[in-house]
Amino acid sequence: MAPRKDIDYMDGESDSDVDVIDDSGDRGKKGKGKAIDRRKKDKGKGKSSEQPYAWEASYTRSWDTVQEDEAGSLTSAVADLVARGRRRRLLAPANAIRRTIIRHLIIILDLSASMLDRDMRPTRFGLTLEYAREFIVEWFDQNPLGQIGLVGMRAGLGERLSEMSGNPQDVLKALSERHKLEPAGEPSLQNAIDMARTSMSHLPTHSSREILIIFGSLTTVDPGNIHDTLDACIRDRIRVSVVALAAEMKICREFCDKTGGQFGVAMNEGHFKDLLFELIPPPAQRALSRAAGAGATNLAADLMMMGFPVRLPDTSPPTLCVCHSELKSEGFLCPRCSAKVCDVPTDCDICGLMIVSSPHLARSYHHLFPVKPYQAVTTLDDTSTPAKSCHACARSFPEAAATNVATTEGLSPLGRYRCPDCHHDFCTDCDVFVHDVVHCCPGCGK
Ligand SMILES: [Zn+2]
Ligand SMILES: [Zn+2]
Ligand SMILES: [Zn+2]
Ligand SMILES: [Zn+2]
Repeated sequence: MAPRKDIDYMDGESDSDVDVIDDSGDRGKKGKGKAIDRRKKDKGKGKSSEQPYAWEASYTRSWDTVQEDEAGSLTSAVADLVARGRRRRLLAPANAIRRTIIRHLIIILDLSASMLDRDMRPTRFGLTLEYAREFIVEWFDQNPLGQIGLVGMRAGLGERLSEMSGNPQDVLKALSERHKLEPAGEPSLQNAIDMARTSMSHLPTHSSREILIIFGSLTTVDPGNIHDTLDACIRDRIRVSVVALAAEMKICREFCDKTGGQFGVAMNEGHFKDLLFELIPPPAQRALSRAAGAGATNLAADLMMMGFPVRLPDTSPPTLCVCHSELKSEGFLCPRCSAKVCDVPTDCDICGLMIVSSPHLARSYHHLFPVKPYQAVTTLDDTSTPAKSCHACARSFPEAAATNVATTEGLSPLGRYRCPDCHHDFCTDCDVFVHDVVHCCPGCGK
């Protein structure tokens, strides 16, 4: 984090390093010259010298992560990134666990004055908005049956920024009006959590209730005892996760631990994003939460009613939709009451039936039955007739093993990855594509 004394000098200026001050406190052009000199000197001395300021480190980090090998090629660096992804996937549980696919999430954004700190570029506030947008897009892609609402914490109050919605555009629109979100005052955790909690109180038991707090402050201004709010969250089975931008606060940690959420303090911009994106896959359902709740008797399954709508072609005569009262041709008809809605998935405004399209349902399904991680093939000695080319893209495998790849990292020196079920071999690119995008093995079809 940047030293506090310097922050005052950076107000209102662009995010260039013009304002870097030297140790004696001078500012302006002189300071800039010195900062650059220092950086040049650092390069000459090599990496052993320390970075003088946190914000200077952010300039070097982007190329620190990619390193060329002796021949000046980047392939080993890229291979390393791929290997890291593979290792992460191997850590994930491969067998089916019970997960909640109908999720309801309220994102609570800290809009207090501490979000104007510049320890993250350009500011905590700017970065939070940017990552929140990416998070929402990715979240809806992975959880097409979910819904997201937004609440802001500003000037000691909780503000509803967007209603619970299953349409990513509605949520993103609330975030795009930046001038309405300008940070001010102190945050109030209790007010914001209470507001989020009450807006989820009507939800059915088969859906998950989650709160994600992006918290940049180290204080909270509450009208009452926040532990009562914590107890209410536990009672309502709301999972609270916190991504802190400043430091750990005991009450935040307690919220996460007692409600089964995740807590993390972002160390830098990249880590902030990682912490957020860890919350995208649906959480495993806890046996405990069921035993404690009202639905405890029903451990086997919750059945719920869903309808598959009839899609109207663009050429059909225009009619009014029930959601916006607009005259249009295209739309979907509720299978129960034949009301016309504009978008799926949604709840029918007339009869309340949940309307989903089958691709949405199928897309949520892959979390329940993930493709088993492929094993890196290290030797062909135990295979009688090894395949000449990748089973998916038909690109031929290299004849000889690459010598410079370490086998311990889960990488195959032969560039082959084998499905444990159908024993077909796949190349690196197909391996990543199958597990991250297709979610279905082309060899065995599961
Ligand atoms: Zn409509
Ligand atoms: Zn209906
Ligand atoms: Zn391939
Ligand atoms: Zn397979």
